[in-house]
Amino acid sequence: IWIGTYGGGLELMNADGKTFTHYTYNPSDPNSISNGNIQNIFEDREGNLWISTDGGGLNLFNKKNNNFTHYLHDDTKNSISSDNVYSLFEEKTGKLWICSRNGLNLYDKKTNRFTVFTVNDGLPANLTMGMLEDDKGRYWISTNKGISRFNPYSKTFTNYKVSDGLQSDEFKEKAFCKSRTGIMYFGGINGFNQFNPDSISTIAFDPPLVITNFQIFNKKVPIATNENQQSPLKKSITETSTITLPSSSSVFSFEFASLNYASPDKKKYAYILEPFDKEWNESGKERMATYTHLDPGEYTFKVRGLNNQGKWSPNIVSIKLIITPPFYLTWWFKMLALLLFSGLIIAVYINRTRRIKNQQKILQQQVDEKTIQLVLANNNLTMKNKELEQFAYVASHDLQEPLRTTIGFVDLLQQQYKGKLDDKADKYLAFISDASNRMRALIKDLLDFSRIGTKKEFEKVNCNEIVSSVKEDIMAALKETGASIQSDTLPVIYGHGTEVKILFQNLILNAIKFRKKNTVPQVIISVTKANHYWQFAVKDNGIGIEKQYCERIFDIFQRLHNRSEYEGSGIGLSHCKKIVELHYGKIWVESVPGEGSTFYFTIPDSRSVS
Ligand code: ADP
Repeated sequence: IWIGTYGGGLELMNADGKTFTHYTYNPSDPNSISNGNIQNIFEDREGNLWISTDGGGLNLFNKKNNNFTHYLHDDTKNSISSDNVYSLFEEKTGKLWICSRNGLNLYDKKTNRFTVFTVNDGLPANLTMGMLEDDKGRYWISTNKGISRFNPYSKTFTNYKVSDGLQSDEFKEKAFCKSRTGIMYFGGINGFNQFNPDSISTIAFDPPLVITNFQIFNKKVPIATNENQQSPLKKSITETSTITLPSSSSVFSFEFASLNYASPDKKKYAYILEPFDKEWNESGKERMATYTHLDPGEYTFKVRGLNNQGKWSPNIVSIKLIITPPFYLTWWFKMLALLLFSGLIIAVYINRTRRIKNQQKILQQQVDEKTIQLVLANNNLTMKNKELEQFAYVASHDLQEPLRTTIGFVDLLQQQYKGKLDDKADKYLAFISDASNRMRALIKDLLDFSRIGTKKEFEKVNCNEIVSSVKEDIMAALKETGASIQSDTLPVIYGHGTEVKILFQNLILNAIKFRKKNTVPQVIISVTKANHYWQFAVKDNGIGIEKQYCERIFDIFQRLHNRSEYEGSGIGLSHCKKIVELHYGKIWVESVPGEGSTFYFTIPDSRSVS
């Protein structure tokens, strides 16, 4: 039994099973073994014993003379590629494959030449550990950077890595073997791989992918351990198929990972949140997907990774996500709000209508009451007015007769007894006569006043004719005062001729009567046409009226002067007002005291009256 030691060289257990022959490294003996760190002892088909060493290259044991031939690396000539030699493998042709720290050597005993294969030829690493041949004649070489399959015909290497399912990229020396059924075993720093070389090339390794973490606002979501605990996760996220979240959890992330410890450069992920994302998001090596402020609704989060062939794996991990709306966006709340709102509007409407109706009722009642009161008052007033007019008429009419008698007899007395009685009697008679005449004038005025409007029908009245007739009637006064009357061409109106004449006459007579001392009175009658009515103006150059009296003078018996200054009864202007109002018009005065007054009155035109 040959025994290799690490540091103590080679040992041969002798046939007695008790003693050993030592083959130790002796620097002074060139035929001793080249190094004491034995890595491997290999016997080829010809029975040659090859000893690989860690630092002393390869040794061939010569049984005849009990010494060693050394194969050491030499830069200057064709030699083994490294002095750190691991395992050997003999192919059918008898050539030896030698795994070394610095490349794979193929040694041809016949020609004594080494052919070296390194990463430059396609090996994944120069440090080669072990080599096996499969049933199809292909070689499988383990290295510290994965396993390589060598096709001796095409002289090409196909390399396999962690991403293909290897325990790790790093394999160990001496840890490899092939079973009788052809299954291969390679051991490394993280366990070992077993595979059937026939099926390797066709299987695409699809590393499993899982969702590993779920976060809300960058905080890991805990799993609810009992029913009272509020958490969207009832079990581990990896086992969860549906998550329900309130819309207030507006920032959340999924973390995912491929359970393949492939080199990071071979990992790649893509995820999609349907129907929010329109296409897959390729996140590269990034293993997290974050979403913010999603609308309430149902979503599906899907993630996939690259398989070992660099294609997107058809194995997609998905999780359903339900985002519940806030209570004010739920259909029942909207419905309730709508109902409440419409109810409120209806209630307000009904209430308002009821209130308005009540108010209307009350108002109507008040209006009815007031109307009744008004009608009653009006009737009362009309009656009283009629009674009053009747009284005024009757009184003045009946007074006329005795007054006429009195005046007649006073006149008679004056004619027959003037100068025959004493002076006093003459004076008293004159007073009685004067007072009786004034009373007659007053009674006449009162009669005229109470007669106004007794004739119902309007007739055509030519104002020019009226003014001419007035002028004739007051000729004496005109002559006496020297007054002049100028008049525009006046219109024909509809009205009561007698009343209109009284109106003009009163205004003209007042204009002459209230003249300034030492001033010849001038009266100007003009007319303007306004919308639907005529506006007349009777202007004088008399004494004028203080502003504060301008309204009051139209009331009956209102006088601004005593009789010694100006004669009058105080009925004239109230008479005028009554006449104008009978013709549906207005009367007013504008005056500058000391300069004159203008009396205005309006009478509707014939169209409006008709
Ligand atoms: P009477 O002329 O009989 O006094 P009226 O009713 O005609 O009564 O007039 C009332 C008062 O209005 C008059 O007393 C007078 O003071 C004032 N008045 C009327 N017309 C004029 C006028 N043209 N100029 C100044 N004062 C006037």
